Amino acid sequence: MTAVCNPDAIIQRITQIQATLPPTVKLVAVTKNLPVEALRAAYAAGIRDFGESRVQEAIAKQADLADLKDITWHMIGRLQANKARKALEHFQWIHSVDSLKLAERLNQISGELGCQARCCLQVKMVPDPPKSGFELEELWAALPVLAQLTHLKLVGLMTIPPQGTNPEVARAIFRQAKELAEQITQLQSHPLQIETLSMGMSGDYQAAIASGATMVRLGTILFGPRPD
Ligand SMILES: *Cc1c(COP(=O)(O)O)cnc(C)c1O
Repeated sequence: MTAVCNPDAIIQRITQIQATLPPTVKLVAVTKNLPVEALRAAYAAGIRDFGESRVQEAIAKQADLADLKDITWHMIGRLQANKARKALEHFQWIHSVDSLKLAERLNQISGELGCQARCCLQVKMVPDPPKSGFELEELWAALPVLAQLTHLKLVGLMTIPPQGTNPEVARAIFRQAKELAEQITQLQSHPLQIETLSMGMSGDYQAAIASGATMVRLGTILFGPRPD
């Protein structure tokens, strides 16, 4: 893998990967822990969607990149309730709505701010204790309440298979997430339209795309290994 900061290598890599993605799939370049030079290189390669996992880190980068006006920022990491306001002020997407409590908080603040961040519910399709996210039963139980959160634009599901899942099993997990999105959207009793499937990272994005992903979140495969 190339060095993180070699802009030409980043541009080349992104161009190559982008060419393999179906036009229906949005590429979110995951730039957590990377310097802004890497983001500028990605931008030069045509990337306009950037994924960050920490609110403060993203805010600092946004200040550095203020000259690039057409970036869409995606919050993909665990979001603490006390950072909900800042997240809504600084991101256009939040992929990691992992509890009813967080959803309610985001809804309340969205109402106050009149903001329009689009949100994905993070779902664990199979049990995965180390990860945050809705368990399936928990999600079904929460749906009637989630559907009442009218300030929140709940438009997607995000899922990550447990670490070490082999690609075939990952594919089945992603397929189940797509079916779940369809089931939710077809429910008569409430208005959630789940159209976005945020799934697929460097190790499994092809499986995710084969199963219906509409957004892939790629870091390592675009930039090389991340510094800690
Ligand atoms: C870090 C991260 C990614 C990118 O992972 P890679 O394996 O480097 O592509 C995607 N999604 C989330 C939620 C992440 O935290």
